[in-house]
Amino acid sequence: MYNKTITELAQGLRSGEFSSVELTAAFLDRIKQHSGLNAYISVTEDLALQQAKAADARLANGDAELLTGIPIAQKDIFCTEGVKTTCGSLMLDNFIAPYNATVVEKFNHAGAVMLGKLNMDEFAMGSSNETSYYGAVKNPWNTNTVPGGSSGGTAAAVAARLAVCATGTDTGGSIRQPAALCGITGLKPTYGRVSRYGMIAYASSLDQGGPMTRSAEDAAIMLQTMAGFDDKDSTSVDTPVPDYSAGLNNRLDGLKIGLPKEFFGEGLNSEVAATLETAIDEYRKLGATVTEISMPTLKLAIPAYYVIAPAECSANLSRFDGVRFGYRCENPADLSDLYTRSRGEGFGKEVKRRILMGTYALSAGYYDAYYIKAQKIRRLISEDFKKALSEVDVIMGPVTPSTAFGIGEKIGNPIEMYLSDIYTIAINLAGVPAMSIPAGFAQGLPVGLQIIGNYFAEDRLLNIAHQYQQVTDWHQQAPAGF
Ligand code: GLN
Repeated sequence: MYNKTITELAQGLRSGEFSSVELTAAFLDRIKQHSGLNAYISVTEDLALQQAKAADARLANGDAELLTGIPIAQKDIFCTEGVKTTCGSLMLDNFIAPYNATVVEKFNHAGAVMLGKLNMDEFAMGSSNETSYYGAVKNPWNTNTVPGGSSGGTAAAVAARLAVCATGTDTGGSIRQPAALCGITGLKPTYGRVSRYGMIAYASSLDQGGPMTRSAEDAAIMLQTMAGFDDKDSTSVDTPVPDYSAGLNNRLDGLKIGLPKEFFGEGLNSEVAATLETAIDEYRKLGATVTEISMPTLKLAIPAYYVIAPAECSANLSRFDGVRFGYRCENPADLSDLYTRSRGEGFGKEVKRRILMGTYALSAGYYDAYYIKAQKIRRLISEDFKKALSEVDVIMGPVTPSTAFGIGEKIGNPIEMYLSDIYTIAINLAGVPAMSIPAGFAQGLPVGLQIIGNYFAEDRLLNIAHQYQQVTDWHQQAPAGF
């Protein structure tokens, strides 16, 4: 039952093989059994069973949708009415959101069952899920290694079959990097495709929610529910949502794939590179042509991102002041003490580092030298993507330089941690969509292949991913013991 796709589960629910209440109870049991992974921050058992009951009623009435009765979970960055929403931080440990994020609202409307809220790096800042106030998440493929971050709880839960599928968010790689390290499928949509309303902001010009699933077929179904214009989000784009499942079976003859030489040079683990070459060969067999391209500005992505993202986060996180939301220090002496201690005690080390970097980059004396410069680089990176994607249909490359690293291995060295996202960050700066799909193993751990497409070409990416998943079974493999 745990290995079934959304479509197969939907059939099981309709044929009476199992009810949503039974399915939900089975997943809740599994979550308890594997609580050692620390994938969930909150398990909403009562709510899940209540939603499952309602779903069973809808199924009986014949007005169910594909996701009705399917147990999913939300990254704990999405506000959920009446349910604790922590964003992985002590700052919001006591925060009960008064409203639902648009994404949550859409899943509720579809009748999906929410099992709970998933662990994540604090305020989505991290690449290993070790910055969470609620502790590190373990990678089910090897519990001594990290699941990636910031959507590490989501990736671990989906890989370990503790939810059928779940949401993630991606500011610089947080859907794709954990998807790669946990051997699942993750899609970061075009900026503006999925509403950010009620998704706690990290860096607003980069943040984008998306599906994390076991297959491209399931990702198409999830994205169908998540995507669409939202007048509550001023950066939501009003462009029609295509049928993401319709083109999954299109053939790939004549597909033009570009491989940026900057993606395959120094820094990429040789076993990961060899695994990716085999995956790209598979695409040749499917009828694609492969050419080497060059994107010279890719190397500027990390420095530009680590000015822009902290700058935006320093502004976004100013709202957590001990007055309006969440954590408040005890017995403040005066207002200034209230602000300083509430923020000093409520935020973790990495979040503080980002706020300090961002405030510095935005300060009057340094604004032009850092922030404006980074924005100019961002433009150059976007131009590089536009040019490349006018020559080829999609760009392929690694998601991560290596497979999952050990818990504790990089947490003391922020620069090394930041380099985990070297292949994902430029995509957010450009705003184009990209996927990570399971492409094999190196050193016994999953390797992800990244597929990057043009603005709003999510349907094409899903088609390309699905075709690969028809001729390979990497995406169907489960970690031992799960
Ligand atoms: N690891 C990157 C960061 O810490 C990306 C995180 C994300 O995409 N949310 O900023």
